[in-house]
Amino acid sequence: MTETPRLEIRNLMRSFGGRRVVDDVSLSVMPGQVTCLLGPSGCGKSTTLRMIAGIETQESGSIWVDGEMICDSNQRVPPEGRGIGLMFQDFALFPHLSVAGNVAYGLKGRASSNRERVEELLSKVGMLAHIDNYPHELSGGEQQRVALARALAPRPRIMLMDEPFSGLDDRLRDDIRDETLDVLKAEGTAVLLVTHEPGEAMRMADEIALMRKGKIVQRGAPYNIYNTPVDKDAAGFFSDIN
Ligand code: ADP
Ligand code: MG
Repeated sequence: MTETPRLEIRNLMRSFGGRRVVDDVSLSVMPGQVTCLLGPSGCGKSTTLRMIAGIETQESGSIWVDGEMICDSNQRVPPEGRGIGLMFQDFALFPHLSVAGNVAYGLKGRASSNRERVEELLSKVGMLAHIDNYPHELSGGEQQRVALARALAPRPRIMLMDEPFSGLDDRLRDDIRDETLDVLKAEGTAVLLVTHEPGEAMRMADEIALMRKGKIVQRGAPYNIYNTPVDKDAAGFFSDIN
């Protein structure tokens, strides 16, 4: 018997102003695994992620979590009912809340009544010592760690991440990528990570879905995609990995 994907999307479509930007996209994420949606800027990655999150509506196609349909043309589970966590590049921390307050926000409660879980989450991301700091007192990488703790607070089954590391400087990025991956794997969270950087996908993905002009052109293990690109464009896209 084959395992049921944690997340599966089938034949998603979306147009803006008569132009199809997501064109028959299907992909899946297995429990505990990282799937990277990889492709150049403007190919439709964020729109795909927003439809899965439920903050954008699809024209057609369906979305499934653990074998249950959560969205098609006729029915729609609201975003907060999907068991999905979000980490976007511009999903900033709340400046007026402390680190504890930001993480507790993810628990939909006050820091004081959730102290234990807040501490547990912050220690997972290595930020317990900063529990009473405010976002402006933290570096970009530290803020990112707190954002991860906040996103993990409601124990999402699936984490959607849209270029979450692109705001970080080069020296930090690899460390934060690895640490983030460790935390997510330890929690058993399935991850759909959007990136335009082939190197990031090679480093983080169990499976890559290569996207171009709204379509998935190739899916497979990073090693296979790198070694057996589907065409010249795919080969070129991977050629500038350092
Ligand atoms: P990516 O994340 O791969 O860079 P996006 O999904 O953000 O791509 O965008 C895909 C295309 O859809 C782009 O051409 C973008 O300009 C367009 N687009 C995205 N959102 C909207 C919107 N709300 N209204 C009009 N066009 C949009
Ligand atoms: Mg995008």
